[in-house]
Amino acid sequence: MYDIAIIGKGPAGISAAINAYARNKKVIIFGQDSKKILWAPSIPNYAGLPNITGTEFMGRLNDHLKTTDAFVVNQNVLAVYSLGTHFSIQAGTEMYEAKKLYLQQELILKRQ
Ligand SMILES: Cc1cc2nc3c(=O)[nH]c(=O)nc-3n(C[C@H](O)[C@H](O)[C@H](O)COP(=O)(O)OP(=O)(O)OC[C@H]3O[C@@H](n4cnc5c(N)ncnc54)[C@H](O)[C@@H]3O)c2cc1C
Repeated sequence: MYDIAIIGKGPAGISAAINAYARNKKVIIFGQDSKKILWAPSIPNYAGLPNITGTEFMGRLNDHLKTTDAFVVNQNVLAVYSLGTHFSIQAGTEMYEAKKLYLQQELILKRQ
């Protein structure tokens, strides 16, 4: 059972994972590298990382994520089931359980 499941591996999801880990939470994060970030030829406005390319930025995000104990599932979430006390999350053929869920507005999920 994870404390928090994070769906989405863009800057928002990875930031959430890093912060949850810093607060001693057991974290699982789902998703593939953000295509929005990978497709950005350059990112001029991220504080501390001036004029970094999208590919480099995604690499820096993943490097930072690796410094945590967050369990990374490089697959899309197919469904989330709310079970009252916790959530059950399906990715591929596997099911994972977490007490809390962090997901982003744009994600396309089957919610039940
Ligand atoms: C070409 C381009 C250039 C850009 N340049 C800049 C810039 O210079 N400066 C700037 O501030 N912003 C820029 N942006 C915008 C920036 O990319 C977004 O604001 C940023 O990516 C949003 O981050 P996010 O983590 O919220 O979402 P995203 O980066 O969209 O990440 C969402 C994540 O969720 C994952 N996901 C989706 N569905 C599922 C699922 N069912 N299960 C698991 N994972 C799922 C995706 O794979 C992805 O990893 C640019 C965007 C584009 C397209």
